Amino acid sequence: MRFETKAIHSGLSIGNPSKSVIPPISPSTIFEIDADGRREEDLHYSRLANPNRLQFEHLIATLEGGEVAAAFSSGIAAASALLQTLKPGDHVIVPEDVYAGNRKMITDIMLGWGLEADFIHMGSLERIESCIRPETKLIWVETPSNPLMRISDIRGISTLAKSKGIRTVVDNTWPTPVNQLPLALGADLVLHSTSKYFGGHSDILGGALVAKTNDEWWSRIEIVQKMGGAVPSPYDCWMLSRSTRTLAYRMKGHNEHAQKIAEELEKHPKVKELYYPGLPSHPDFELAKSQMTGFGGMISFLIDGSPKDAIKIVGNSKIIKRATSLGGVESTWEHRLSSEGEGSITPKTLIRLSVGLEHPNDLLEDLMNALG
Ligand SMILES: *Cc1c(COP(=O)(O)O)cnc(C)c1O
Repeated sequence: MRFETKAIHSGLSIGNPSKSVIPPISPSTIFEIDADGRREEDLHYSRLANPNRLQFEHLIATLEGGEVAAAFSSGIAAASALLQTLKPGDHVIVPEDVYAGNRKMITDIMLGWGLEADFIHMGSLERIESCIRPETKLIWVETPSNPLMRISDIRGISTLAKSKGIRTVVDNTWPTPVNQLPLALGADLVLHSTSKYFGGHSDILGGALVAKTNDEWWSRIEIVQKMGGAVPSPYDCWMLSRSTRTLAYRMKGHNEHAQKIAEELEKHPKVKELYYPGLPSHPDFELAKSQMTGFGGMISFLIDGSPKDAIKIVGNSKIIKRATSLGGVESTWEHRLSSEGEGSITPKTLIRLSVGLEHPNDLLEDLMNALG
């Protein structure tokens, strides 16, 4: 079965005895125990498992090509669950431009708890290798990175990590499995904020981890999911499964619109530099092409002017909403540094645009008017 078909049909029959084509939302927190006692695999209490969460977990695992998945109440909850499987003194290598919320989660919570982290430029394998210590347990990859759209070599990093007995996790929130399949490229785990393209309509908060193999580490992740308790509601899981059925076609639209807009914006005299991995001008265009099948809906660009000018330009849009986050059917943009704050390496004149599914010519007109 191909991706589009799997996105529509996977997981629907799990915990769905009535054979409804679309499974019902199961709000019950408790499940009746059989008269002859409880079996390990029976549903019991909804924090541990429930039909809608199992449906979504099966669906996202199938789409990423993994054996198992765990859904969380946000992307950050999924990321921190992964780190909570490590021990104090363990070391992780993280991109210096990792998603700002994950940077703050690591520095404000996990470092205090005893985790050690190096935040580095992930562009060179030698640089990564030089940071590896005996305590290094995990290399974190986010590609394209946020918001600089740097591309990291998933195959090269995973091979290096594997040779040292280290796991690799790829935050696949931006590309989604439609554009990039990290597990097939050698990574061990995939991280998602499903609040973005999986949800796709800016109305669900969620996260997920997917693993290539159901191993001992995975059982620790499951314990943090169930006993840490940062789980999504059955309603959120049902909504996410619903959104995921159109993921492939939404991503085709995001890819197509962003490519067209990036090509036009790049020529604008007020745009000093533009970062989109689908353009030959991107320094990692060849690497991007070797590991992505589409380049996604996110564009970052620097304004030829002051940070105030950048804020003013964002203020001029009529269709594109001034809002953070990404991946919705509606386009959004923001002066990114204003959202990231302290510790960020984002340039002061950078605007980040999430290209939605409106007609691209309407978006281009809005952008040209805003840039003036
Ligand atoms: C938004 C985002 C996250 C965090 O997810 P939440 O659902 O907001 O907690 C993590 N990584 C990336 C790349 C993101 O864009």
